[in-house]
Amino acid sequence: PPMLQFDAVAMRYADGTEALKSVSLAIPRGQFCVILGSSGAGKSTLLRMANGLVEPSQGSIRFAGQAVTRRNLAQIRPRIGMIHQQFNLVARATVAANVLAGALPGLPLWRSLLGLYPAALQDQACALLEAVGLRPEHLTRRASALSGGQQQRVGIARAFMLAPPLVLADEPVASLDPQASHDVLELLRAQARQRDTTVLCSLHQVDLARAFADRIVALRDGVLVFDGPPAAFDAAT
Ligand code: ADP
Ligand code: ADP
Repeated sequence: PPMLQFDAVAMRYADGTEALKSVSLAIPRGQFCVILGSSGAGKSTLLRMANGLVEPSQGSIRFAGQAVTRRNLAQIRPRIGMIHQQFNLVARATVAANVLAGALPGLPLWRSLLGLYPAALQDQACALLEAVGLRPEHLTRRASALSGGQQQRVGIARAFMLAPPLVLADEPVASLDPQASHDVLELLRAQARQRDTTVLCSLHQVDLARAFADRIVALRDGVLVFDGPPAAFDAAT
């Protein structure tokens, strides 16, 4: 089965807002799929449906062949990595503790000395932090002491800790300057390629979507208006 499948999915919020109108989409394993659209297009709603944070008012979603429903969430959530626009790090905890939290969600973050964790997890956290370009001296710093671009690198490392087959990135570079945006997307794509991880990444910048996507899915006012390779998107606009 595809890694992720949306079948005629629609979302109408309680206040009547129609955020998505019958969107169908199948994302194969290993694809870096960009959801492109301006603010309010429905990108967050679509991404949140993939891990059950939003329940569709119509249609259905399957993750690796399994229906995404309330009763399956406990099985599904640990297999989906999340990357957020505002990084969502624990500001006063160390970089190392933030990354380890990706593997041990209930972790007491005050135990921020790396040496207190199982060796295998330490090694994995260090390897991931190195892979996203952070140096050993960053590990013991508080997350809030890092630049935005560095914080999002920590966010990427955390998302990959459980080796998830799918990563959802909701506007991961919307808070970053153009250079950091480019670097962070490059790192995210490289990690995904290396691990054959499927990525669903929302963006509002057309140039970044063209530069990094294997496939662009464009939304406008909740309607899927384009689905194809970046080269074809040029012609369509
Ligand atoms: P984005 O930048 O991704 O569009 P927003 O800043 O618009 O997000 O929304 C932030 C939060 O507010 C989200 O949790 C979203 O679900 C919620 N939200 C957005 N629009 C509305 C709305 N019209 N009514 C209620 N909640 C909303
Ligand atoms: P995007 O991520 O592309 O900015 P969203 O999925 O956040 O789009 O929002 C799509 C539409 O749904 C917008 O009109 C937004 O205001 C509305 N919306 C989002 N969350 C809520 C909510 N919780 N309640 C009501 N409307 C919402």
